[in-house]
Amino acid sequence: MDSRPAIADYHTHTPLCQHATGEPHEYVRRAFELGLREIGFSDHSPMPADDFDDWRMKLEEFPIYLEKVSKAQNKYPNIPVKLGLEVDFFDGEEAWCEKLAEMADFDYLIGSVHYIAPGWDMDNPKWIGRWKGQAAVEEIWSSYWEIYTRCVASGLFDILAHPDLPKKFGFRPEGDLRKYYEPAIEAAAKADVCFEINTAGWRKEVKEAYPSLEFLRMANKAGIPLVISSDAHAPDEVGHRFGDAMTLAREAGYSQTALFSKRQRTLIDLLE
Ligand code: ZN
Ligand code: FE
Ligand code: FE
Repeated sequence: MDSRPAIADYHTHTPLCQHATGEPHEYVRRAFELGLREIGFSDHSPMPADDFDDWRMKLEEFPIYLEKVSKAQNKYPNIPVKLGLEVDFFDGEEAWCEKLAEMADFDYLIGSVHYIAPGWDMDNPKWIGRWKGQAAVEEIWSSYWEIYTRCVASGLFDILAHPDLPKKFGFRPEGDLRKYYEPAIEAAAKADVCFEINTAGWRKEVKEAYPSLEFLRMANKAGIPLVISSDAHAPDEVGHRFGDAMTLAREAGYSQTALFSKRQRTLIDLLE
C-alpha cells in the first residue's frame, strides 16, 4: 500500500530555460519531502532557431536537459521522476512538434500556447501595454482560444497547459466566458487529452489558478481527465498550493487525477 498522496507534479522547469532557478535534483528532493507521488520535468521546448526568444533552452542544450533529468532520477530512486517537455504550439509548426516528440522517450508532452502571433507572447510582462481597453482584451482572448483549441485538437500532446492563461494579468472580457471555453473542451474530449490545474496563477496578478472553476466544471462534465501542476520555476514552488488545487478539483467534480508513463495515461483516485 502506497501511503503517498496520489498526486504528481508534472509541470516544472530547469535553469536551461533561462528564467528558472535550481537543479532538477533539488526539485525532486522537494517533491520527495512533500510526499508527492511522482515528479516530472517539462522545460520549455527548443525551437529550430535558437534566437526565437530568450526564455527556452537552445536546441544543442537538449541533451543536457536529458542528462540533468537522468541525474535527478539516479539521485532519488525512491520517487518516480518522469520526462516531459512543455511544447509551444503554433499554426504550421506541427512538424516541429512531431520532431520534438521523437527526440527522447518522453513520459508525456505538455502542449501550451503563449504566442498568438509571431513575436507576440501574450503572457510576457513586457507587452503589458497591449492590454488597454475591452476591445484589446477581447481580441487577445479570441486569438488565444482559437490557437489553443487547435493545439488541443492537434493530438500532439498528452496534457494541455494552463487553459485560461490570458487572465494572467487580471484582464478578462466582460460577460459569459463559456464561449471561449466550449470549443477547447469539445476538442479535448475528441482528442482524448487532459487539462491541468496550474497553480502558478495563484502566484501571478490574477491570484487564481488556471483554469477557472467554471472551466473545470465544464471539462469534468465532458469527461476530460485532469492533472495538477505547479509550473515550478524554483525548487520551493514544487507542489505549490496543491491542497487548494485538490479542493478546486473536487469542487469541479473530479475524484481522480492522471499519471503518465511512456505517454500512456492511467487514472488514480484523489485521496482525502
Ligand atoms: Zn517558464
Ligand atoms: Fe507555460
Ligand atoms: Fe511552464
